[in-house]
Amino acid sequence: MEPKLHIGVLALQGAFAAHAQALRDCGAEVRLVRTQEDLNGIQGLVIPGGESTTMSNLLVASGLSEVLKERFQHGFPVFGTCAGMIMLAETILDGRADQISLGALELDVRRNGYGRQNDSFEQDIVVHSFETPFHALFIRAPVIEAVGSDVEVLASWGDRPVLVRSGNALACSFHPELVSDLRIHRIFLSLVENFSVTNPR
Ligand code: GLN
Repeated sequence: MEPKLHIGVLALQGAFAAHAQALRDCGAEVRLVRTQEDLNGIQGLVIPGGESTTMSNLLVASGLSEVLKERFQHGFPVFGTCAGMIMLAETILDGRADQISLGALELDVRRNGYGRQNDSFEQDIVVHSFETPFHALFIRAPVIEAVGSDVEVLASWGDRPVLVRSGNALACSFHPELVSDLRIHRIFLSLVENFSVTNPR
């Protein structure tokens, strides 16, 4: 049997429990991450949806923000969803003035960019390499307004990217942990697997 991948889920705030379950359903060993020590031995990190301004405060207070920035610079695999994607974006538009970014992805992201009247909506999206559409739930979702040259767009809705990857950083503006379809979590686990081959724990 293949050894299990050890994945951390940032659990300072937000929708971490559903991600933990989705990753377990994919066969991973999951650790909830709240302190720097919790990062020991994990091979990748998921940053969930929630409220990015609060998450930003808690990341700074816990000392995790600096450690994570450093890890991501060295290719440590990370998957950010919704507020988690905002945390990873190099440029945050309509953020709070003191909101920090972990800068793992060359993206311009606008908080709550899908607007009030569409506060939440569901949409089947076409994802690169998937044979059937993925049912995406957008909840007060951020809009990706611009992507850097090394960012690969894996799915768009309308004229906006909604699932992107650069190196070992993956991000989406919707909530894949809230549906039973595990295909997007599996994309992340394959990034972790490839990284772990060259960077054993
Ligand atoms: N609007 C939230 C924020 O700015 C994100 C919403 C979500 O994660 N569902 O952080």
